[in-house]
Amino acid sequence: MMLVRTGSCLCGSVTFRVEGDFDGFFLCHCSRCRKGTGSAHAANLISAAAELTWLSGRENVTSYKVEGTRHARSFCARCGAPVPDVQGDGAWITVPAGSLDGDVGLRPDAHICLASRADWDEGLEWVPGMGGLPG
Ligand SMILES: [Zn+2]
Ligand SMILES: [Zn+2]
Repeated sequence: MMLVRTGSCLCGSVTFRVEGDFDGFFLCHCSRCRKGTGSAHAANLISAAAELTWLSGRENVTSYKVEGTRHARSFCARCGAPVPDVQGDGAWITVPAGSLDGDVGLRPDAHICLASRADWDEGLEWVPGMGGLPG
């Protein structure tokens, strides 16, 4: 059975479908991913075989490549949310895990580029947790 997942951006204008399996699921702590997400790490699913179909809002999908590098990302021009990116001249796609609707159903394979992680990104499992917003 071919796995089909759907996803969307924060404002809902960009929606997409990913058909097929993922080859890897990586939490990347490099400085570019930290800038690009505004957080401790990116969470990207990678697939060479899966097929990406834009269902709506394709005109809002904007891509940015860091000059002189292979680092690229796509996002919704309206809300800035990360969306899937076609990389390597179409050789593979990266799908931000948080852009998928519903459960991902996979565990990350690895933290990568840990050597450049943020100074506050350590022992996060020991930070006090709350079910909702701080009161
Ligand atoms: Zn959007
Ligand atoms: Zn990275």
